This record gives sequence, C-alpha cells and structure tokens, in this order.
Amino acid sequence: MSNFEKVSPPANGQRITIENGELKIPDNPIIPFIRGDGIGIDIWPATQIVLDAAVEKAYGGKRKIAWMKTYCGDEAVEHYGEGVYLPEDTLNAIREYIIAIKGPLTTPVGGGHRSLNVSLRQILDLYACVRPVRYFKGVPSPAIHPERMDIIIFRENTEDVYSGVEWQQGTEEVKKVIDFINNVMGKNVRLDSGIGIKPISITGSKQLVRKAIKYAIAEGRKSVTFMHKGNIMKYTEGAFKDWGFEVATQEFRDYIITEAELWDETRAEDGVTPITKPGAFAQLRNGKPAGDPGERIIVKDRIADSMFQQIQTRADEYDVVCTPNLNGDFISDAAAAQVGGLGMAPGANIGDYIGLFEATHGTAPKYAGQDKVNPGSLMLSGVMMLNYMEWREAGKMIEDAIEATIAKKTVTYDLHRQMEGATKVSCSGYANEIIKNMQ
Ligand code: NAP
Repeated sequence: MSNFEKVSPPANGQRITIENGELKIPDNPIIPFIRGDGIGIDIWPATQIVLDAAVEKAYGGKRKIAWMKTYCGDEAVEHYGEGVYLPEDTLNAIREYIIAIKGPLTTPVGGGHRSLNVSLRQILDLYACVRPVRYFKGVPSPAIHPERMDIIIFRENTEDVYSGVEWQQGTEEVKKVIDFINNVMGKNVRLDSGIGIKPISITGSKQLVRKAIKYAIAEGRKSVTFMHKGNIMKYTEGAFKDWGFEVATQEFRDYIITEAELWDETRAEDGVTPITKPGAFAQLRNGKPAGDPGERIIVKDRIADSMFQQIQTRADEYDVVCTPNLNGDFISDAAAAQVGGLGMAPGANIGDYIGLFEATHGTAPKYAGQDKVNPGSLMLSGVMMLNYMEWREAGKMIEDAIEATIAKKTVTYDLHRQMEGATKVSCSGYANEIIKNMQ
C-alpha cells in the first residue's frame, strides 16, 4: 500500500537505503523534487535537464535518476487545497527517499504561517545548512582576488534566534517574560521591549561540528574555523565554540590540531603566525616530512565581526567555517557576494542522513515564468546532491560545463549586465549551452 495520498513514486526507480550507517545509492534512485514557487517554474526544468544529461553522459546510461514530483508552496495549494502549503505527502517522500531537491518557496503571507523553508528544516531535523562558496572564472565580482575564496559554510539550522521563541512588545506574554527576567532573575530589561530568546544547545552545536569536521576529513580540507561572537554572548556563542573544540579534540584527535597547539609548538622561534609558517607541520609530526599541510586539519576560532574582514582580506586562510544560525546567515550572503552574488550560490540542508538540496535565493516573483533568470544556484545545488550521492563524475562535469559556458561569456541577464561583450541567453538557453559544453 502506498504511503502517499496524492503522489506516487515512479515505477522505474529504487529507494536509497541506509546500510551500516552509510547511504546506499542504487543506479536508478528515486529522488523527490519540489519545483518551487515564482522562478522555480523556470529554474527547475533547466536544472533537471542538466542533471539528467550529466548523469547520462558520465555513466553511459547505466545510471539514471527516477524523479518523483512532490508539492510544496503555491503548487501544493493547487494540488491539495486551500491552506495546505506543506503536505504530509511531501514530508513522507523526503523521509522515505532520503535525498531531495527543491526550488525556492514563497513564505505564505498572513498570520500563522511560518516560512516553509524553516518548517522543512525543523520538521525533518535538517540541522546543518551547508553552503559552499567558490569562484567561477569570468563571473563579475567586486573583489580583486575572488579566486582566493573557496570555503564551505556549515550553519546551524534549527536553533539560535531562529527557533521562534519570541514575544511581541506590548503583549501580556512579553510583560510576564520581562517580569520574570527583572524580578526573579534580577536583571534590568526595559519594560517597553520585545523579547527574543537565543537557545544554543550542546546537542545542536556538537552535531553540527561533528558534521563539519567529518566533511573536512573526507574532502581533504585544511582547516575548520568556529565563527562566533563568544566575547559578548558567552553562554551561547562562546559555549558553541567551547563545545566545538571539545568535539574536535575528544572525537577527532588523530585528525586535527588546534591552532593554539600549533602556535605553542612554533611561535617561540620567530613569532610567524603558525598557519603561514612553512614546515610547522613537519615539526609537529616528529620530524616526518612536511607533506601536505592538509594532513592534519587545523581547528581554530574567530570572532564573527573579524571574520567578515578576514574573508575579504585573507579569504584563502579559511576553508570549512562552522557557525551558529544567525552568523551563518550573514556570512553566507557576504561570502557569496564576493564571488559574484547569490545567483550562483548553492545550498543544502542536511540531517543525520537526509539531504535536501536547494537554491539559496528566493522566488524573485517579478521574473516568474519569463524564462530569464540564472538557474546556476539550483544547478550547483544539484552538483552538491550528486557529490552527496558519490556520483562525483557527473557533478564535476556540470561544474566544468558551467565554468566553460561562463568563460565563453554566454550568460543570463544578471551576469550579462555586468560583463562586457557577453551574449545574453534565456534560462533554458543557458541550460542547453551548459549541456553542449559538457565533456
Ligand atoms: P529573491 O527572490 O532572492 O530576489 C531578489 C533579487 O535577487 C531578484 O529581484 C534578482 O535581482 C535577484 N535574483 C534572485 N534569484 C535570481 C536568479 N536565479 N537569477 C538572477 N537573479 C536572481 O528575494 P526576495 O525578492 O526578497 O524574496 C522573494 C520571495 O522569496 C519571498 O517570499 C521570500 O520569502 C522568498 N525566499 C525564499 C527563499 C528560499 O526558498 N530558499 C530564500 C529567500 C527568500 P534583480 O532584480 O537585480 O535582477
């Protein structure tokens, strides 16, 4: 019997399963997709044909994604009826098939509706928002050396000031909260305040850090940086950093070295910062050859405000960045702007196993249905999805083809308006060019 009310899985596909703690991907995995609202109508089909073409080409037809259409946002209302923006069918499909991809979703207007994106993350416990930020040659950028940026941000996705624990100024509820804070806890909050609570837990922090360090190990990354504002918010952001170092030193001791340890070993000689000091690793490895500095991952922390100038002035000293929710929101957009903007920034929401891959921009309603916007963000999210499935050959093929297409100056309107001598193509035209440039 089907678990679904109004959707059905494709007959030609198989389920992704979990075996011994690892994802097992069949050659024809069922992958649910949500088209998305607004420009989702344009960027999803463009993305789908590019993903299919790359998989076909990379594996000579041996592998093929069996797409399963699911509904969320405006399309869900059309299919399931008024007020049903996030049907159980969609949640069940993502739970059952583990890997899914989505276009942008409108936050329904009017009281009582939470952002659908936030709901999906919280209901499915997708606690890590993962956003790689790298430069594609030829993309117009405000930075002098945009190519120095190649970071991947792990943003905590379920708590912090996003957890929705807040009270509006002037309400009976907020009066009770302020009364408690002032009279029971002995603090002094202004009586005409609104209040928001910032919970940061051991559970939320450690599970994120664990994921970030595992990723750094698997991908041969050089460092993991905890970005926090712990100098001011000691028991939330500061605790996040402390718990991060606990995970690093207690669970990954053989793989990591903290910046402080590295510093202790090297600074006595000349005061050169340990990260740039040549040979620092060789010294630490008991005279073994220096080898690749990525042999052990440097774990360090930076105060959030300093991190914003660091990514501009020394972007190449950062690699995996691991941070609470609000910092992660800000730094993701700031970093993306440095390499050419949100139109090219992919993202994923990941839990213990489930991966929901998504465009990071919104629905840009004024462009919806015009076959005009840049599908790059969703396509690169698709690349992340292929890499998550270990279908890396197909992922690489798309990345290279996007780079080749931009190098030929064949681009959508957003990049065209910033590039001299470029040829402007439609959203679907861009997808076709990318397919042509696949090797
Ligand atoms: P937006 O949809 O991201 O659009 C803002 C501007 O960004 C657009 O007008 C356009 O700039 C540019 N842009 C966005 N996507 C682009 C693309 N694929 N190609 C080229 N340019 C692109 O932000 P918004 O207008 O603030 O939000 C609209 C709706 O989206 C809201 O309902 C919001 O809640 C929702 N939203 C959803 C998500 C999500 O689902 N993940 C994320 C953010 C916002 P120009 O006008 O300069 O051409």
